[in-house]
Amino acid sequence: MSQDAAQVAKDIIHAARQLQTPVIKEVFEPLADQARGEGWTHEEYLAAVLERQAGVRASNSARARIASARFPAIKTFDEFDMHAIGAKARDIAGHLATSSFIHKADNAILLGPPGVGKTHLAIGIGREACHHGFRAVFDSAMGWAHRLGQAHTLGRLEAELKRLDRYRLLIVDELGYLPFDPQAAALFFQLVAHRYENASIMVTSNLAFARWGETLGDEAVAAATIDRLVHHAHVVTIDADSYRTRAHRAAKKGTKPS
Ligand code: ADP
Ligand code: MG
Repeated sequence: MSQDAAQVAKDIIHAARQLQTPVIKEVFEPLADQARGEGWTHEEYLAAVLERQAGVRASNSARARIASARFPAIKTFDEFDMHAIGAKARDIAGHLATSSFIHKADNAILLGPPGVGKTHLAIGIGREACHHGFRAVFDSAMGWAHRLGQAHTLGRLEAELKRLDRYRLLIVDELGYLPFDPQAAALFFQLVAHRYENASIMVTSNLAFARWGETLGDEAVAAATIDRLVHHAHVVTIDADSYRTRAHRAAKKGTKPS
């Protein structure tokens, strides 16, 4: 390497350190060799270097968002067998995985009996959102009732609802497994009303809409909650022929689930 080239390399390393772009430091020399070998333009070389750095930074921040979302398990959208659900559910689930509903602050509702993959799908869609640059946060319905109840007791419900605004997707898993008491139902209504048309909520439930009243408090509160949740909602209904029972049947027959 000529003395000039060595000085240029030092300058690049120094600048990369100042910019906190360690990937540039790693890739500028091998990519320069490749560029010379393949006759890239200056612009093509610069684009290649920047894209490598940008790619690593994006995947690091996606990883950080996934870690802070507190998903209860590692389940991905890609691992979800879309053939186990009906064509309409498949279409809507595919759309949810693009995260465009989050741009619009729409809601998502995943319905079906136990074991059909609602939680898996919710986590998978949540992870996709993290990859698309949105922050997400996951808890069970009971978990949210508990968190909101604590905030309320401390007189800081408003502050907590505002804090949650930083998450463009808030996931409520297992609505309806255990009914909310009247206070929990009222707090849940406040959460839903606060986010209405501002930020997305995704709910999974084993109860059909007609039975949501049983879990959301008295009729008036339940109706008001359902109204706002469902107004701009994408609904995925998965029916009873669950993946788990199919896998079980297939294991018995010694085949893969169809
Ligand atoms: P639910 O929340 O509806 O009760 P889960 O999401 O917990 O169901 O799914 C139960 C188990 O079956 C999980 O391990 C999940 O990963 C798996 N599972 C369910 N449906 C599918 C599917 N379509 N593709 C892949 N795995 C699935
Ligand atoms: Mg579940």
